[in-house]
Amino acid sequence: MKRTHHCNELRLEHIGQPVTLCGWVHSRRDLGGVIFIDVRDREGRTQTVFDPSDLAKEIFDQAAGLRNESVIRVAGKVRRRPDGTDNAKIPTGQVEVMAQELEVLNLADPLPFQIDDPEAAAKVNEEARLKYRFLDLRRPEMARNLRLRSKVATAARGFFDEQGFLEVETPILFKSTPEGAREFIVPNRREPGTFYALPQSPQQFKQILMVAGVEKYYQLARCFRDEDQRADRQLEFTQIDIEMSFIDREDIYTLIEGLLKRIWKTALDVDIPTPFPRLSFAEALNRFGIDKPDTRFGLELVDLTEEFRGSSFRVFSGAVTNGGVVKALNAKGFAGATQGQIETMTEMAKGFGMKGLAYIKVEGGEWKSPITKFLSDAEKAALKTKLNLEEGDLALFAADQWLNACELLGKIRLYAADLLKQQGKLSVPANQFNFLWVIEFPLLGFDREQNRWYSSHHPFTAPVVEDLPLLKTDPKKVHGQHYDIVVNGVELGGGSIRIHQPDVQKMIFEDILQIPADEAKLRFGYLLEAFRYGAPPHGGIALGFDRLIAILCGTPSIRDVIAFPKTAKGTCLMTDSPAPVAAKQLKELYLEVKGAKKE
Ligand code: ASP
Repeated sequence: MKRTHHCNELRLEHIGQPVTLCGWVHSRRDLGGVIFIDVRDREGRTQTVFDPSDLAKEIFDQAAGLRNESVIRVAGKVRRRPDGTDNAKIPTGQVEVMAQELEVLNLADPLPFQIDDPEAAAKVNEEARLKYRFLDLRRPEMARNLRLRSKVATAARGFFDEQGFLEVETPILFKSTPEGAREFIVPNRREPGTFYALPQSPQQFKQILMVAGVEKYYQLARCFRDEDQRADRQLEFTQIDIEMSFIDREDIYTLIEGLLKRIWKTALDVDIPTPFPRLSFAEALNRFGIDKPDTRFGLELVDLTEEFRGSSFRVFSGAVTNGGVVKALNAKGFAGATQGQIETMTEMAKGFGMKGLAYIKVEGGEWKSPITKFLSDAEKAALKTKLNLEEGDLALFAADQWLNACELLGKIRLYAADLLKQQGKLSVPANQFNFLWVIEFPLLGFDREQNRWYSSHHPFTAPVVEDLPLLKTDPKKVHGQHYDIVVNGVELGGGSIRIHQPDVQKMIFEDILQIPADEAKLRFGYLLEAFRYGAPPHGGIALGFDRLIAILCGTPSIRDVIAFPKTAKGTCLMTDSPAPVAAKQLKELYLEVKGAKKE
């Protein structure tokens, strides 16, 4: 080894010892002719001292010329720092190394941004950070994220091993089975016009592994989805992917609660209480207006359908007559909402196809609202009690079909909560983790534009057994054996018990999802075939690993927990990818590019 100690190791007990450190020049200070260099490595930093009075001139001059982030090896003796010069902020702050030798292993150019000062580093724009990712990752906060990620992966692997799981790798070069997100495709040089696709998840392979008798499978699996990028999405991401045979939903709940308990303990030394509460999809929407509720604060939705069924306020009663509902939300303490904020929320309502947004502000003992004049005394009294309307409150209403009304108020609830947090009127402790299961999802959703049913999870999800007879008569009433795990309003993962009978799977593909028989055969034939040769009942789940780590690291961006993430436009600024390829490569692939962007 080139070094005897790492840079976070030397303490008082090392005084007098000759040591060698290797690392980066974190900072260099010239004080009265003596040079102090903080040498930093992954573990921490140590002060080294270059004193011209007992050092060869060329070594001293070399030290004097070092730029930050150059890589050096320093050998010397550990000594106690002089009185009054201890640095209590770092664990090595009571000692320093009197340099005797210096080897410059790599001289750094002037840096594009400073990384020795966390405050300055935090202000560097993300593009520069991504372009010079090797510098960005040296920052202690980023290094901590990578370390935590590795630690959690190891803890997860240990947990699965104890539980008898096998880690099995599945192919990255897969086949196109379009369903849900858009796929990345890879041209096949060996047979012109044929393509691989990158897997959106190992879903089908993990089910086949169950047919293959693996019984308990997991993988830290890379997945690829060619979706337009949203803030918390990446084109490629990692899942903790799981599948088990001979189980039912309860087994998955227990397994995942155990896994998350282990992870939270390992990463944060926090004991999370289990079992997690469970909410049905209907209840989650009714109370929080979303299927991944953040239950760390209230502001719950209230149902007022019965109160307004016969109302002379037609906006409300009309919605009920049309089979809809009247729902409301009391954004407690938000009466001071500005005109601009009310407009933002009204725009949200319009985005849901509504004409506007009814609201009541309670200010100065009065109800300020364009709608109060239409309300009867009984209706007002009902509002006051059911919404617990008090001075300073803002009530917001949605009268529409159930799902639409719930979802609008769910969105407004989060918007209002954010503003209330900023105003200090709502507080959410940083270290609170509200885990919950969302269960009893509908198996299917209806796509009005395409006039057909789609799977609300994926087409391999088993219907609840009692609902099977409804599949052909009333598909919307069928529940799926599907579950989502949610923490603090973030969907950490989801999964389901699968269909394992080929006839049921075929019926779902062809009769319900209206995938023509020949297409279903082409896309999923191998799965249907596998199910004819002894398929055990099975089910599984996948957790978004990047998101999980982001939560543990307390960062809003998954880019902060991925070593080399892509930008919102899907580019890697460091390697400058994607990039054109040589004409020869295209020719080999029998490809011709039309409409390529001109340089
Ligand atoms: N493969 C599914 C997904 O990626 C998860 C599962 O059903 O296990 O969402």
